[in-house]
Amino acid sequence: MTDKKGLLIVVSGPSGVGKGTVLGKVFEKRDDMYYSVSATTREMREGEKDGVNYHFLSEEEFLKIKAEDGFLESACYCDNYYGTLKEEVFKRIDKGINVVLEIEVQGAMQIRRKHPEGVFIYILPPSYKALRERLLGRGTDDLDKIEKRLEAAKWELTQIDKYNYLVVNDIVEEAADELNSIIEAEHLRTPRVYDAIQEMLANDEI
Ligand code: ADP
Ligand code: 5GP
Repeated sequence: MTDKKGLLIVVSGPSGVGKGTVLGKVFEKRDDMYYSVSATTREMREGEKDGVNYHFLSEEEFLKIKAEDGFLESACYCDNYYGTLKEEVFKRIDKGINVVLEIEVQGAMQIRRKHPEGVFIYILPPSYKALRERLLGRGTDDLDKIEKRLEAAKWELTQIDKYNYLVVNDIVEEAADELNSIIEAEHLRTPRVYDAIQEMLANDEI
């Protein structure tokens, strides 16, 4: 027996660590997951699609939604705004879907204050050198942007004690298995299953 609600899963980690790659594997293994599509003001990368990877907005559009309180959290990261739209999240959690927010640390900490029941996972690279190589290998950012992202990573790494779980992405399959185990275990935590168990006991004939 597990709980009937979905989990609010927050995944952070330095740009290029492999969050998208590892989460992709987890999504292949499970059919109860939803990847929250964030809004951003950054430029669309080659291969990205509006409404699929992000909702790509102008700064004016982004700030309008923020003023109307449409974001669960938002942050400025490497000169661009990013934010989680409220409408992406809670209606799905109520239906038993695990909603994944792949967001940076400032936003994750805003969510943690409002929703301590969330599951906060930080993905680490096996080394700083590997992180640089992955960012270069991905080939989506120019050198200036890569340096900015590596600088941001140094600060982010000082914040990892604020997360519930740390997963090292050395081998993609292993990291995905670890994430999957975290999801399984979180569904069985006492506060989440307590009501369901009480109901079962109440309906049991003695
Ligand atoms: P993020 O979503 O964290 O920015 P990506 O998933 O885009 O990172 O991965 C960045 C690059 O690193 C991609 O080219 C991806 O193929 C590669 N990558 C991801 N995980 C690994 C791994 N465990 N070993 C080697 N390369 C990896
Ligand atoms: P990228 O530009 O590489 O897609 O993302 C840069 C950083 O922004 C990553 O760390 C990513 O997790 C984070 N990010 C993506 N969407 C959001 C969001 O909605 N809110 C916050 N706070 N960060 C986000």
